[in-house]
Amino acid sequence: MTHREDKRTPLPGDSAVIGAIEAGGTKFVCGIGSPDGEIHDTISFPTGKPEETLAQAIDYFAGRGVQAIGVGSFGPIDLRLGSGTYGFVTTTPKAGWANFDFLGTLRRSFDVPYGWDTDVNAAAYGEAIWGAARGLDSCVYYTIGTGVGVGVYAEGRLLHGLLHSEGGHLRLRRHPDDPFAGSCPYHGDCLEGMASGPALQARWGVPGHELAPDHPAWEIEAHYIAESVAAAVLLLSPRRIILGGGVMQQEHLLPLIRQRAAASLNGYVAASELAEGLGEYIVAPGLGTQSGLRGALALGIRALEREPAGLLPQSGL
Ligand code: ADP
Ligand code: ZN
Repeated sequence: MTHREDKRTPLPGDSAVIGAIEAGGTKFVCGIGSPDGEIHDTISFPTGKPEETLAQAIDYFAGRGVQAIGVGSFGPIDLRLGSGTYGFVTTTPKAGWANFDFLGTLRRSFDVPYGWDTDVNAAAYGEAIWGAARGLDSCVYYTIGTGVGVGVYAEGRLLHGLLHSEGGHLRLRRHPDDPFAGSCPYHGDCLEGMASGPALQARWGVPGHELAPDHPAWEIEAHYIAESVAAAVLLLSPRRIILGGGVMQQEHLLPLIRQRAAASLNGYVAASELAEGLGEYIVAPGLGTQSGLRGALALGIRALEREPAGLLPQSGL
């Protein structure tokens, strides 16, 4: 994807070769990019057993002279600097991946600086630099897909804390016409349990893309996403909210979510950005389906900029 207008003034090092990995629970996308944000080549393959999947990524990057690699991974992941398990995927129920040393496995093949964050934090970062939140110092990125994930970019940095946001697992006010118990193995009726692609399928017996736009499923789907978006507005006060992931390919969903989020907030948050029915505020990704990969590239670029001098504080970004 080419975004010529995004190009900043070339700097020394702009010819650097940066690897990017969007590590999803269903598929991996790897790419080669440059510091201007261009992705020059990509490959995609299903997420299988961890060692075999990473071997495919390593094969792809081998011999290409990558100078840094950025990874946006499904999680939960350990991204606490100084932790003994930094760079690991931690408690995922995904078979074989719990407590897997993701970055360590890559490091054994490529001794380069690494950027490491969640897939959704990476996507928020990509959108903040080159996409729908360009020029803003905060945004929240949602993926509504196989799972529901929330990435938070705030005051110009990716938000970390105990771990990272797990906003996909918030419990929300139940839709009054919804008896569904929810599909999250941990919480039942959290956002992911009520609104992910698999939750849609479990509730209605068919996958989301087979449900007609006027099916009652979408009103319920919009309710949960809107409740969560309203909570994000109240809690984090982001300048923009970006909704991505496979389920959001249902284009009629975005206007429904805007309506319901506006109704939920009920005019309380007095920011001009929320005018016009939230049309400029709750938006689709500016980078299409590439938010995660471009964000991973941005993490790689940042890792390269920080090495070897270490001039920037390791602030936990
Ligand atoms: P992942 O979350 O695995 O990275 P996606 O974001 O594509 O991948 O999400 C996949 C989920 O989204 C599946 O549960 C699928 O049923 C659902 N999905 C994909 N495309 C559509 C669509 N056009 N309409 C509704 N649901 C969709
Ligand atoms: Zn949950």
